[in-house]
Amino acid sequence: MSRDDPDPTELATVTELAKRRGFYFQTAEAYGGVGGFFTYGPQGAALKRNVEDAWRDRFVTRAGHMEVSAPDVMPEPVFEASGHLDGFDDMIVECPDCDASHRADHLVEDDSEYEDAEALGLDRVADLLGDLDLTCPECGASLADEPVEEFNLMFETDIGPGSAQSGYLRPETAQGIFAEFPRLKQYAREQLPFGVAQIGAAYRNEIAPRRGLVRVRAFTQAELEHFVHPEKDDPPLDAVADVELPLYSATAQEGDGSVETKTVREAVDDGTIESPWIAYYLGVARDWYAAIGVDMDRFRYRQHLSGERAHYAADCWDAETEVDGDWIEVTGFAYRSDYDLANHAAHSEESFTVFEQYDEPKTVERASVDPDMATLGPEYGGAAGDIADALERLAERDPDAFDAETVAVDADGETYAVDAEVANFSVEAVTKAGEHVTPHVVEPSFGIGRLFYTVLAHSHREDEVDGEARTYLELPAELAPTFACVAPLVTDAPLVERAEAVREELRAAGFAVDYDDSGSIGRRYRRQDEVGTPVCVTIDHETVEQSDHDAATVTLRDRDTTAQARVPVPDLVEHLTALRAGTDFADLLDREGVHEV
Ligand code: AMP
Repeated sequence: MSRDDPDPTELATVTELAKRRGFYFQTAEAYGGVGGFFTYGPQGAALKRNVEDAWRDRFVTRAGHMEVSAPDVMPEPVFEASGHLDGFDDMIVECPDCDASHRADHLVEDDSEYEDAEALGLDRVADLLGDLDLTCPECGASLADEPVEEFNLMFETDIGPGSAQSGYLRPETAQGIFAEFPRLKQYAREQLPFGVAQIGAAYRNEIAPRRGLVRVRAFTQAELEHFVHPEKDDPPLDAVADVELPLYSATAQEGDGSVETKTVREAVDDGTIESPWIAYYLGVARDWYAAIGVDMDRFRYRQHLSGERAHYAADCWDAETEVDGDWIEVTGFAYRSDYDLANHAAHSEESFTVFEQYDEPKTVERASVDPDMATLGPEYGGAAGDIADALERLAERDPDAFDAETVAVDADGETYAVDAEVANFSVEAVTKAGEHVTPHVVEPSFGIGRLFYTVLAHSHREDEVDGEARTYLELPAELAPTFACVAPLVTDAPLVERAEAVREELRAAGFAVDYDDSGSIGRRYRRQDEVGTPVCVTIDHETVEQSDHDAATVTLRDRDTTAQARVPVPDLVEHLTALRAGTDFADLLDREGVHEV
């Protein structure tokens, strides 16, 4: 921090609070820590769980989707099929002097106008290191002539003793869903559309972890794979048609850099969002982000630039939040077509299609061949079998090719001219009950840690109470790690006894309740404000002195306004339930038996 800039950065403020109050801290600090690994402390684990539960509520329960839980380690063939083994790479450059490793594309982005240098390709990024005279951020040595290479981000491991079977820590939870599709489709009774979700750990051996929870090596993802019929299934767009989306389109990124707000319906109608399914999910998610406390003035949907998007993905948008002046990708929304299922089908023996039954059986013409192997064999030797297979595929694909006297067919990298008569081509009428369809996949992929970090930063407030500065977290009541703190005003036995009874009653009713009897009541309130506890319940002399023990009242104090009200103990559970469900503290004052203090 410089003298001119006395305010700590948002990242520094959140990191300090997180460590001091137990939201998160670096893992294994006793051993010097380890880059890119964080442990969620007691407050953090509760907040993280509440974010996950809110996600599950919206994207699984309310949507009627299934949830699965696959292991973190998967065998190598899964990642061969998914393409991660070959292509899940980042660009690495190593410092010739201090050996520090860096993301070459990030160094370029930090020092230029490029927003997505990865899309430029390896060679161009290597050139830019020289053109921009980039140096090692650790020691200042020149990186201008250093090679830029691909670095695979997966953590490899051996399954079982020895090295008989290779496995990898999953770099995304999605493959644990795709690989099990042959079974999952049965649970869905082969009825499209259906969605399968998973919340779980993902691991990426990031070259340069940075910015606390933003780029780490072990993180939690919440992913939904929505399997849809490519031609027949449309999203229920009406449900979100009027939701307003702040859209940072590819055209705007290459042009004036403006974010335009459009409703879901407008964005689909004018083609800004190509896929109605993606538009639907941007609408659903936008309201969900607002509900969990993301500041909508620091939020946008950014479209992938053409060079950035995976070749199979028709339309891709990221949800981004702003923290500390940086935009963070918190969710990726991708229309993945049939890429994943087709790849797993090609690499395994299983069927990754669903059988779609027709309303009425259909009679269709089917072209087939019955090659005369007694002629093919002597003529083509070892290639005869492959030629026969190729003829069969050709008949399905292009029956007209058999109209000529000879048929040109490709097998084993060569083109053969086969006598049409030898192919024995025929067309027959067959009755089909249905057909096999490879579903398309719509995928919203949420990073829980980045959302957690955003929610902490965006809910952080500073104000003044009774002439004293205070900080508090304006977390939605549903997410707060602790919902209520019960406190006896002083530690006199009758007050403590009553306070402990209230605490037990609230815990039995399912509330996350803290108990605090140390220090002045003002200090105790501040401690709870700082971790975002929505209400404090104070037991004072009046509580224990009231003659009608059962109707005794306690003080409820609101975190955000510091307003206070007295409520009868027997009604406490009911009032707190309403507050947790989102009722305003001010509205509580209109309820019977509640009095403003
Ligand atoms: P991706 O598969 O790269 O689109 O990632 C999906 C989501 O996972 C992103 O939107 C992030 O929220 C999260 N994510 C990806 N990589 C990391 C990382 N290294 N650290 C934390 N979160 C990550």
